[in-house]
Amino acid sequence: MVHEWLACFAERVETGRGLLNELDRFIGDGDHGTNMVRGMSAVVALVPEPDQGISGYLRQVAMTLIRDVGGAAGPLYGTFFLRACGVLAILPEPSHAVWCAALQAGVEGVAERGRCMLGDKTLFDVLAPAVDAFAADFVDPWGAAARRADSSRLQTADMIASKGRAAFLGTRSLGVVDPGATSASWLMAAGAEVMPSS
Ligand code: ADP
Ligand code: MG
Repeated sequence: MVHEWLACFAERVETGRGLLNELDRFIGDGDHGTNMVRGMSAVVALVPEPDQGISGYLRQVAMTLIRDVGGAAGPLYGTFFLRACGVLAILPEPSHAVWCAALQAGVEGVAERGRCMLGDKTLFDVLAPAVDAFAADFVDPWGAAARRADSSRLQTADMIASKGRAAFLGTRSLGVVDPGATSASWLMAAGAEVMPSS
């Protein structure tokens, strides 16, 4: 299930590599798509062991992203999955409540690792509201998360970057959708595509 989610995310990243690089060319160094494809290809190549469970698998995913993505986004996505897997290790039954706790832990991890807040124009501006929407929807949490993620992605165009390379541009970062916010919206869209509703 989680394996399919990440395989679907990997496909979206591969298809959208050019767009991610282009957005990053506007407000960064043009490599976000390349970084994400490198990391997610390595994730897809991981072979989940039969007895490792969701948590063990996500730990492997996290370490791979931290190691293989490069740039700022790799450790941030890696931290997201590492914190989530910590919750799933304690509460392995993937009910709606458990997923909420895991995803919320992931979001908190991103905030700590990136020292970012809402409005900084980063992937956090998508992940945090998407997980809030997930938590509030008991019928179609992944769909709700994906829809919120997509609108939040677009809202990053109206933000002035204050974290990462884009922060050097100040107000010149206005008008461009953040590349990390875009990949994060695809992570949620992939969840909506393949994860069962709880
Ligand atoms: P790099 O900036 O090192 O080239 P990437 O291009 O892969 O790394 O990723 C850039 C994305 O990372 C940005 O679009 C932004 O969403 C995210 N990002 C950068 N710095 C931070 C941070 N401090 N906190 C949260 N997200 C960040
Ligand atoms: Mg970059």
